[in-house]
Amino acid sequence: MVTVQPAPVESFVFTRDYLGSYRRVMRVLAAPSAWAGPLPEAAPPTDVAIYQLPTGTYETRAAFAVSGGSFRDKRQFAATAILVRHPKGDLLIDAGFGSDVAAHVAALPRFQRAPYQVAKTVSQQLDASGYDRGRLLGGLVTHAHWDHVSGLGDLRVPVWINPGERRYAAEDPGGKVFRMVSAGREIHEYEFSGPPYLGFPSSFDVHGDGSVVVVPAGGHTPGSVVVFVTVPSGKRYAFIGDLTWQLDGIRRRVERPLLMRKLADSDPAQVRQALLRVIALADLMQIVPAHDVHAHDGIPDLPATSQELPR
Ligand SMILES: [Zn+2]
Repeated sequence: MVTVQPAPVESFVFTRDYLGSYRRVMRVLAAPSAWAGPLPEAAPPTDVAIYQLPTGTYETRAAFAVSGGSFRDKRQFAATAILVRHPKGDLLIDAGFGSDVAAHVAALPRFQRAPYQVAKTVSQQLDASGYDRGRLLGGLVTHAHWDHVSGLGDLRVPVWINPGERRYAAEDPGGKVFRMVSAGREIHEYEFSGPPYLGFPSSFDVHGDGSVVVVPAGGHTPGSVVVFVTVPSGKRYAFIGDLTWQLDGIRRRVERPLLMRKLADSDPAQVRQALLRVIALADLMQIVPAHDVHAHDGIPDLPATSQELPR
């Protein structure tokens, strides 16, 4: 691991006013009713499998990460990609840090830069496992922010994105790194033309068998999504991107601190609605906030050699 210290964070000045408001806004959301409907049908072929590809971490003060976090504690934010293998073609969910992460961090507004540690990129991990890149349908982004798309720059694969997020990524300063890494890439636009899914209003079933289902969960960015994955054992996962950054958001039902909701979310009320939908599912599946280093526990790493991959 290599620790890189970029320019010091300047814009977050802790004032007494801010500390005061922080205490006032710390509150727990009312518990939603647990999902009582049937689980959507899923018939994943036997060789569907998921792997985690951790590409590094960056540092955030706990107070900025989750309501109730302290100012002194730091949290490591994971930048981990997921590979979903499927006989009809594999998909990456997000892409972590790429080989150009230093340039990507440098392209951020100063207040967003944070110290980060890099591990192997997705591209390096795929190569180390002898992975056949011809299997990859593309990289599907939970949303277009830098810490989810940096690694796409190393991969010559189509970028899977919905029209709302594509518009955001094209126009918003938050899409700057996306524009860098997606230049010259094929863009694969998908639509939510499928039925409601687990409380979300519509869906996109990637393979038509319920194994990978994407739903709109806008609010962090306009086109943010949740990706539901069901593996042959019947175990289900919800990759929720940045609906909440940490598992506390699910377990303690707390939102981001108010300041961060205002800074980081395009529509905080929508984020809350989607977060409550996901909390209602928490007993039924593994909920994976993108940046919690423990949220991916139990998901295997990519094997070191291709022989170990299931056929
Ligand atoms: Zn993020």
